[in-house]
Amino acid sequence: MKKTEQLYEGKAKKVFKTDDENYYIVSYKDDATAFNGLKKGTIEGKGAINNQVSNSLMKMLEKNGVPTHLVEELSERETVVKRVEIVPLEVIVRNIAAGSLSKRLGLPEGTKLKSTVLEYCYKSDELGDPMVNDYHIAALGIATPEELKTIADYSFKVNDLLTDYLKDVGIELIDFKIEFGRTPDGTIILADEISPDTCRFWDSKTGEKLDKDRFRRDLGNVEGAYQEVMKRLLGK
Ligand code: UDP
Repeated sequence: MKKTEQLYEGKAKKVFKTDDENYYIVSYKDDATAFNGLKKGTIEGKGAINNQVSNSLMKMLEKNGVPTHLVEELSERETVVKRVEIVPLEVIVRNIAAGSLSKRLGLPEGTKLKSTVLEYCYKSDELGDPMVNDYHIAALGIATPEELKTIADYSFKVNDLLTDYLKDVGIELIDFKIEFGRTPDGTIILADEISPDTCRFWDSKTGEKLDKDRFRRDLGNVEGAYQEVMKRLLGK
């Protein structure tokens, strides 16, 4: 499969059309941004790590009944994915309080939640990704109630599968963000990425942060944390 025109360049990835209209190629970059683009930087090797980590996690999810966009890893940084129209929602799943939830609700980071929390943010750079609920999503026509039910069911399943899978390599899954897409026939599938950019991963024993919070909060050893996740998941 060959890349043709570039469709889109985002903060962390480029997306290309291919010679087959059913597939796109994504190319992961080392660029990092945080706080709605206010903080910018580079994390050396991040693109290659996120591509391979995301593909390995998507492969595991697919095997366990969650349909994903993954088709084929082309190289360290590039992957063939199914063409989808992204549902403009950031779907956030939380097991332990951290980040914006801690701030908003006054819960110290690390507080175990009594049950899993599901949140939606409407993807809009101009609006700063406002949090929305099921009613807003229906009222704005972002997704139908049926689509949203599918998205919520898959999101909880992804949480259960990822939590168990990561536990085995000594990582506690605090929270994560995922995105879904619609294939041309309207099927909802998991899209975008699952990586240290989009999840909070804490070392199960030491509590050390192994994710993008090291970049957001200037904690140092950002590259080392990404490499550690890759090593634990892929053995390299
Ligand atoms: N997240 C993300 N992209 C975003 C916002 C959040 O991938 O634009 C992820 C983030 O890495 C964390 C989870 O979603 O794993 C919850 O993030 P939170 O709402 O706490 O926001 P943050 O504190 O990261 O701004």
